[in-house]
Amino acid sequence: MKRYRAKCCDILHDFKDEKAICPSCANNIITQTEGRLVIYRKAMYMSCNQKFEVFLNGEPFGDLVCKQEVTYCLPYGIYTLHFKCGETIKCKDITIELTPEKPEVDILTRVKMKFWKNVIVIEECDKEDFTDL
Ligand SMILES: [Zn+2]
Repeated sequence: MKRYRAKCCDILHDFKDEKAICPSCANNIITQTEGRLVIYRKAMYMSCNQKFEVFLNGEPFGDLVCKQEVTYCLPYGIYTLHFKCGETIKCKDITIELTPEKPEVDILTRVKMKFWKNVIVIEECDKEDFTDL
């Protein structure tokens, strides 16, 4: 289940393909930015299936379910990535940078079960790691 998401005219748009036209300004939302942050949420056996709320630099950017791949189309820059899942699961935020030399960053995330508390793990990876057990 692949999705593209990008902001245009201050609205977060969510699309299935790359032919994504902003209803307000008629620009192609996907191709007007060059940076790509691709996030895959791995499904874990017997783990939490609650939605993740996605935050980039503190701003809400939609949500993420298990086995979902979302490509965020963003301007080059530095982004701190945070996921929220209920009130009790902690998230180890990471900061990534999108540059002309490295326009795409691939991220794998999952809920790691711990005996006393679950945590959301976010890791930089290669796209071939976007698989489930
Ligand atoms: Zn627009």
